[in-house]
Amino acid sequence: MGRNLEPKCKQCRRLGEKLFLKGDRCSTAKCGMVKRNFAPGFHGPKGRKRLSDYGLQLAEKQKAKKFYNLMEKQFRDTFVIAQKKTGDAGKNFFRLLEMRLDNVVYRLGLAASRTQARQLVNHGHFTVNARKASTPSMTVKVGDVIAIKKSSEKSRFFRDGNQTKKAELPSWLNKEKDNSAKVLHEPNDSDLPQNFNVQMIIEHYSK
Ligand code: SF4
Repeated sequence: MGRNLEPKCKQCRRLGEKLFLKGDRCSTAKCGMVKRNFAPGFHGPKGRKRLSDYGLQLAEKQKAKKFYNLMEKQFRDTFVIAQKKTGDAGKNFFRLLEMRLDNVVYRLGLAASRTQARQLVNHGHFTVNARKASTPSMTVKVGDVIAIKKSSEKSRFFRDGNQTKKAELPSWLNKEKDNSAKVLHEPNDSDLPQNFNVQMIIEHYSK
């Protein structure tokens, strides 16, 4: 699968929004958006260009896509699936994105960023319902139990608690006593990220 190799802080600065791509650093004064809140480029801060309607829709889509650390095809495919479901397409879309296994691992505070969560899942460190799950795009279901694989619990990363523990647990996930977590229900509207203009993304993909 392709990877986005553009420096992470530049991606935030170009889109003018904190996308939390670098783990704990994003909440500190070292954040690129705190130090240099202007678009990257040789000529320094010159203000942001006025965008056309299309440009605004494209930027909104790019923000959400980078926030969830997805490539265009995966992001668009998820949108197509969301559109086929009954109900609000925008909410269905973000619900599907939230319920990806890599995002769940991040939301549980087991990884500092979605990039790290994806790598940990890829490397087979988690189980879903006691079966190894190494597909980051897997959609978890209500009742699923996500856990760190027994052999991985002993690894230095998990043993030393390198993962972010400050993460606020969303209402739809519950940490169990044995370090596993259960999906209680699908994310409510309030559990979905509020910093994106869903309508613009729908308009972008409806062209
Ligand atoms: Fe974006 Fe700031 Fe995190 Fe860099 S440190 S990725 S600018 S949120």
